[in-house]
Amino acid sequence: MSVNTHVAMFPGSFDPPTMGHINIIERCLRLYDRLYVVVADNISKHCLFTAQERVEVLKEIFSGSPNIEVVSYDGLMVNFAREYSVGVMIRGVRAVGDFGYEFELAMTNKQMMNDLEVLFMPTDPNYFMLRSSQIKEMAAFGADVSSLVPPQVSELLRKKKPVLH
Ligand code: ADP
Repeated sequence: MSVNTHVAMFPGSFDPPTMGHINIIERCLRLYDRLYVVVADNISKHCLFTAQERVEVLKEIFSGSPNIEVVSYDGLMVNFAREYSVGVMIRGVRAVGDFGYEFELAMTNKQMMNDLEVLFMPTDPNYFMLRSSQIKEMAAFGADVSSLVPPQVSELLRKKKPVLH
């Protein structure tokens, strides 16, 4: 079955979603008819929030956007792309440091699924220092993260305050 290049996916951990993720998603919507935001439900990665919590908060944030579907997936992202006939995978890149990792990942995915196009979207300059791990660290110290995450995520962080290990 061939894939649909008008449909894109934006996979990630989103633990938790930040304004950097939201910015990439909003920009993807300018380009694609339909976008799957795929929350990786990966047992090998230790997440603060359950996959269900991450899916629910993203659904809440994008409740007014009918072109977005938020789902969790516990397999390889290329298998998701095959199952859902998705032709494009978007990855956000911040600094040069991100690029090496993302490039290798793209090569691996391309080897497994040659008809999946992987596109890199550079971050908005406002968010180029922003990562989920930093949000959790700041929240653990009680710092104000309200300008860095959507209000729904601030609320989630209030309910489930991260602790430093
Ligand atoms: P993963 O574990 O797959 O890297 P993340 O949730 O950390 O999951 O990131 C998901 C995607 O979002 C990745 O492509 C990452 O580069 C991108 N991303 C994360 N933070 C930002 C940001 N501030 N600006 C742009 N892209 C970002």
